[in-house]
Amino acid sequence: MSRIRLLPSHLVDQIAAGEVIERPASALKELIENSLDAQATEISINLSQGGLKSISVSDNGYGMIEDELCLAVKRHATSKLPNANLFQIKSFGFRGEALPSIAAVSDFEISSRTEKMEHGWKIHIEHGTIYPTCPVAHAVGTTVTFRDIFNKIPARRKFLKTQRSEAGKCFEVIKQLAMTKPGVAFKVYENDKTILNFPARTDDNIGIRERLSDVMGHIFAKEAVMLDAQSDTFGLSGLMGLPTMNRPTTQYMNIFVNQRPVKDKQLIGAIRAAYADTLPRGRYPFLALFITVAHEDVDVNVHPAKSEVRFSDPSAIRSLIVGSIQSALRNEGIQATSELSQNVFNRLSVGKYRGKSEKPNLASFESINFTERQSILKQRNSDFDRVVPDDMFFNAPPLAKEVEDDNEAKIQKQIELRGALLGAARAQYHKNYIISETQEGIVIIDQHAAHERLVMERMKSDLTSNRIKTQLLLLPEIISLVPEQLEAINNYLETLNQLGLIIESFGNDSVIVRETPALLGEVNAQELVKDIAEELINLSSSTSLEDKISSVLATIACHGSVRSGRILNVAEMNQLLRDMEITPNSGQCNHGRPTYIKISLLEIESLFGRR
Ligand code: ADP
Ligand code: MG
Repeated sequence: MSRIRLLPSHLVDQIAAGEVIERPASALKELIENSLDAQATEISINLSQGGLKSISVSDNGYGMIEDELCLAVKRHATSKLPNANLFQIKSFGFRGEALPSIAAVSDFEISSRTEKMEHGWKIHIEHGTIYPTCPVAHAVGTTVTFRDIFNKIPARRKFLKTQRSEAGKCFEVIKQLAMTKPGVAFKVYENDKTILNFPARTDDNIGIRERLSDVMGHIFAKEAVMLDAQSDTFGLSGLMGLPTMNRPTTQYMNIFVNQRPVKDKQLIGAIRAAYADTLPRGRYPFLALFITVAHEDVDVNVHPAKSEVRFSDPSAIRSLIVGSIQSALRNEGIQATSELSQNVFNRLSVGKYRGKSEKPNLASFESINFTERQSILKQRNSDFDRVVPDDMFFNAPPLAKEVEDDNEAKIQKQIELRGALLGAARAQYHKNYIISETQEGIVIIDQHAAHERLVMERMKSDLTSNRIKTQLLLLPEIISLVPEQLEAINNYLETLNQLGLIIESFGNDSVIVRETPALLGEVNAQELVKDIAEELINLSSSTSLEDKISSVLATIACHGSVRSGRILNVAEMNQLLRDMEITPNSGQCNHGRPTYIKISLLEIESLFGRR
């Protein structure tokens, strides 16, 4: 007798379900995709107990006739591969696996009616057992309901999480699909309470932005940087969150390939590389990125849940992503999310804050392109008499605070400066925080964080133009290192030389430093070299040279900056603010922390109960 036999079909369905249907949210994703494929313009979703008890999806799509209903629940039955070409897939579905898989592991029911039918038909399948169809009252469209998922397969049920966490995964799925189709209205109820309600928007750029605002929040949509790039093969569009609006996981990186939501490690890696040092380590951006590519240049059939794709030219998409996101962010120049000040405000007004989210009117100035803004500001800043020499922050020794006399001219200048993005510096607190006054409120600046970024950006641009100046140490410094540090430094001598740190190996356990970057002024070479060594050790071997250079630059910049604790006079403080205004990425320090926080007068007034 043959040892090999064909599996019974109910087992085949369960095995397929194991790949496609992991939890309620994955079944829900398949159902919504089916509704979208059926051209629905309204989809409503009902969850009970986070989907563990039941989920039902109703749409006003084109529906199914009775015969189709019976076929739809069979394996590999699909209406979506008209020319049997897996490289011309324009629909979400194409395998004909979802419905039989869900029906194999739940108490499952579909009711559906097409325009031509007088009433609908219903089919019921209980954990794989199919019952005869029967007539049912139903509007044109389809309702699919599944209950008690995995109840008969305790081994799978065991892997489900709490109601809350399963519900959360369902909402995530709904939000992602809602982002791809602004023209479709989504309503979501949990135990009959409305949880989400996304009204239908137009299908153009305006509608997409409105839908992203509905789904990702209006602060995000208002502040995020618009992306619009094109190469021979790929198109990129979407909204990139400001670096300071970062999150601890990749969950909020919404990436779509030809409208299909994907979780692709390569794409996530490329985006992370583009944000580079503007994000703290281990933090990820908040964004919605839409990639379009000709159907023959992408394989969508590489993952059971269709959440990964394969590109015919992966390096081209990587370089387009890195290049275009980087230039979009640089163009944004100085921007820190108002989410931060909102957080501060919420904290300050505990118990009092009523969630008022009316934002102060941002000067239209902030919405113009950074390069334009930079040149206007450069011109304007040069009109203010420059009290501080150009290199003040980069070389000068600490100054004692000078006494300001409030003469007319100074008052006039303060008023003028209030119109600048970061306003007129008023005072320095706790030797590190500058408070400045703007027309709309106040700004608190972390002087150390800000200066670190200024030094870093200056070094970066000097590096690209090969102009990093060095200064000779009077006495070359010999630094002894532990073997691990020594190896790290010796491996990168060449690179460090390019960065202005002229260093050679010396004896068995030391290095000798002859020159340091001039921008840093007087530095503690020993500390600097050890910090760089540690940085290099901490970076994984797979980090690209470019990223390593960037991390080393950040470490160097940190050593050269106005450490907190240095007392600044008003002219110096203002100079720091003016320099920030024209420096790219200066909304966050080299470690991705914000460099400033704005609090509007409106918020302050409401703290004091005036509003
Ligand atoms: P696939 O989506 O890969 O084709 P499914 O098992 O998800 O496979 O669905 C099988 C078929 O059932 C679909 O091809 C479609 O013709 C039909 N169908 C499923 N859901 C709906 C719906 N909501 N409205 C209309 N037809 C549907
Ligand atoms: Mg499907």
